[in-house]
Amino acid sequence: MMPVFAVINAGSSSLKFQIFEISNLAEPRVVYRGFFEGLGEQAHLIVKDHCGLLAAKQTWNPDERFGHGEALVHLVSWTRQHRAGYKLVGLGHHVVHGGLEFPGPVLVDDHVIRTLEALVPLAPLHQPHNLEAIRIIHNRLPDLPQVACFDTSFHCHQPRLSQLFAIPKEMTERGVRRYGFHGLSYEYIASVLGHHDRSLATGRVIVAHLGNSASLCALDGGVSIATTMGFSALDGLPMSTRCGALDPGVVFYMLREMKLDADEAERILYTKSGLLGVSGISNDMRTLRELAPTNADARLAIDLFVYRIVREAGSLIAALGGIDGFVFTAGIGENDAATRAEVLSALNWVGFNIHEKSNWGGARRITRGPGPSAWVIPTNEELAIARHTSSVLHAARQRLAS
Ligand code: ADP
Repeated sequence: MMPVFAVINAGSSSLKFQIFEISNLAEPRVVYRGFFEGLGEQAHLIVKDHCGLLAAKQTWNPDERFGHGEALVHLVSWTRQHRAGYKLVGLGHHVVHGGLEFPGPVLVDDHVIRTLEALVPLAPLHQPHNLEAIRIIHNRLPDLPQVACFDTSFHCHQPRLSQLFAIPKEMTERGVRRYGFHGLSYEYIASVLGHHDRSLATGRVIVAHLGNSASLCALDGGVSIATTMGFSALDGLPMSTRCGALDPGVVFYMLREMKLDADEAERILYTKSGLLGVSGISNDMRTLRELAPTNADARLAIDLFVYRIVREAGSLIAALGGIDGFVFTAGIGENDAATRAEVLSALNWVGFNIHEKSNWGGARRITRGPGPSAWVIPTNEELAIARHTSSVLHAARQRLAS
């Protein structure tokens, strides 16, 4: 029987998944991709095979109360029944925060679940959903191995100075420090840099993960040495609805002068700020781009987004001591040529020489000339998780066999 495993990314009302064939030595190969949306309300499921052909489609009525638990159990039985000859041997989970405890992927057990629960306050928007999916399977199908893969792990070997806040030692010792996120995306990009340009793999590269959630990462020889996200997923760049870097004094002002409680302040900074907050119109870059020519608020939101990317890039170039390449990835980075053009034109002083036709024409390399190069490389966090899941499951099987 062909062993397969599923990679799971659980959100508040959605659950994205990919099913991979596993072989001990080769790269995992994706065979199905799908998602549940509207969980807890009117849930629906779409699954496509690796060629993009529809493999399953289903909708549940609201009174069926089809939530995350039902979705996971459905996915497991669908995988087991759908293709004769497939044997589901495990699940790999995208988990935002692994804290100091998990510098790499880990096989889930009770201790791991308890440790991840303690990290919920550090990633209140994502960690609970990631964890819920893990807990559901742990309780309902305890014999199915699960591997947790963390967005923080890739950054955990950064230089100490990059990780520290200038706060009292005791707070640092408690874990109040910079962790960084999007690590699975950066890890994937680092793994393919050499396929595009050998010198990038060993050089100084900034990767811009610009999606609804956004950050920059400085890679030196493929290793993370600094990143814009810090203790929580709020820091750094403005995002679709998150504020990015903020003077902490603003939070005291919100609490004392605006009389908000901590939950309200948190909600504003996580869900009502960023592109949405500045424009007052939308959190979606496509909408803002459409409106920007005639709407000053949409234009301002984009301008601030680009300005902050450029400022943070300058800081990372200083941390790297120069730059050899810049990579754009994720929804905005991969699709919005205008954002790329604006960022690179503001970084012209570094020597980026954008090639407009390549940028607008969908090329991978979008600069020309002798200076640093810029690239568009689609990210693949699921493959990064799949690689980890495959090797952790393999190691666990070997331990059992010996
Ligand atoms: P997430 O962090 O949720 O995975 P994505 O990586 O899917 O986010 O990125 C979503 C963002 O990408 C949205 O702001 C969306 O408008 C933007 N985006 C997607 N396609 C385009 C496009 N063709 N042009 C401009 N922006 C785009």
